[in-house]
Amino acid sequence: MMQPQPEGRAVPRRTRVGLSALLAVAVVLSGWTQIAAAADAAAAPEVIVLRAAHLFDSTGVSLQSGAAIVVRGDRIVAVGTAAPPAGAHVIDLGDATLLPGFIDAHTHLTLDFSDKDYYHGFYSRVMRFPAEQALYGAMYARRTLAAGFSTVRNVGAWDFIDIGLRNAINAGVTEGPRMLTAAHGIGSPGGHFDNYSFPPDRVKPWGPIEGICSGPEACREAVRYQMKWGADVIKIAASGGVLSEADPVDVPQLTPEELSAIVTEAHTWKRKVAAHCHGDAAARLAIQAGVDSIEHGSFLSDDTLKMMKAKGVYLVPTRMAVYWVEKQADTYPPQIAAKARAAAAAHGRMFQAALRIGVPIAFGTDAGVFPHGMNGMEFGLMTDLGMSPAAALLAGTREAARLLGVDGEVGTLEAGKVADIVAVSGNVLNDIHATEHPVFVMHLGHVVVNKAGS
Ligand SMILES: [Zn+2]
Repeated sequence: MMQPQPEGRAVPRRTRVGLSALLAVAVVLSGWTQIAAAADAAAAPEVIVLRAAHLFDSTGVSLQSGAAIVVRGDRIVAVGTAAPPAGAHVIDLGDATLLPGFIDAHTHLTLDFSDKDYYHGFYSRVMRFPAEQALYGAMYARRTLAAGFSTVRNVGAWDFIDIGLRNAINAGVTEGPRMLTAAHGIGSPGGHFDNYSFPPDRVKPWGPIEGICSGPEACREAVRYQMKWGADVIKIAASGGVLSEADPVDVPQLTPEELSAIVTEAHTWKRKVAAHCHGDAAARLAIQAGVDSIEHGSFLSDDTLKMMKAKGVYLVPTRMAVYWVEKQADTYPPQIAAKARAAAAAHGRMFQAALRIGVPIAFGTDAGVFPHGMNGMEFGLMTDLGMSPAAALLAGTREAARLLGVDGEVGTLEAGKVADIVAVSGNVLNDIHATEHPVFVMHLGHVVVNKAGS
């Protein structure tokens, strides 16, 4: 798992460069120019060259041999076969494949529903104080990064713990992936996101601040609250869900007027909207309202999938969640077990139809439904249903970056992009399961895991 790192390594390099630049300015102003020059030299970022037998840069579907990546500071400065610059620190990873850092477009880093005892797992958030949940979230974030996922879109959390976690990661307080996060998911009272299962006369029911709303104006308010407190993306429950007690899994839970208010408000703020949706009728309403992605999609018809292709709406299939809830179904209460089995039975057919139709697919797992750090299994679950290994890798890199709107920074290995780089053993196109155990992980130019290189 995580390699021990000296204390300073947790601080993103940009922060340290910023501090030394500040120091240099202060020193110059006080006339100590020689000391300033020395401080500058010390701050010059090291050049690292990564070598491996294979390279999949996610600009296309082919594998290159004998290429290397040159990294300076937090950026990739070159990818190719030219001789490494003199004085560079060379890390040779041997018979491995270098890839862009993986991107999971559907995580819940502050939650863990995967406990074998459903009630203990599911209600852990009620049993734990927010500060305690935040500490768990920091641990799950480290585990996710060590699994090769250097960017996540976190789609739903309580108590703004996800916003706190993202801010702490960005400040270098704790180590984790780049997070785009949604705060509370927006949904209707009694719907999939209204999880506060206490008598209303005993505990105040959730409202717009917690993402629960009825009517377009309340839903607009709910979106504004999440954005006010720092949401990068808006998550909605367009249909019922599996891991909630009262609601049917496939029926719409937001009206066209509510959906339109939510999407308009989010898009006005340049935030994308991710729609949790199993049911077909709900998906059509959400797509007509202008959502950017459909998450899960279990019961989508071919016509709806064609509509997604035509409008460029991404499918985030979360095969891992389907696999896990079906495996665990016996441990859930009967009404939830029945929903898990029905969704799982429909999902495989839908995924194959999406492949055939050519719907854009972005990798997403629903981590938190299963234990964090197993995200890489999603690649194999998608290829099991007929997706090519190269297409699965693109879904988990370039395509997910496009959905998140961060493709200018990450998602491919190209000069100028952020140095988020993973290596897996052997030729990844011959063994997609190698993605489940990366041998090397670099995030923002820092080595986070190195089990292979010298
Ligand atoms: Zn989810």
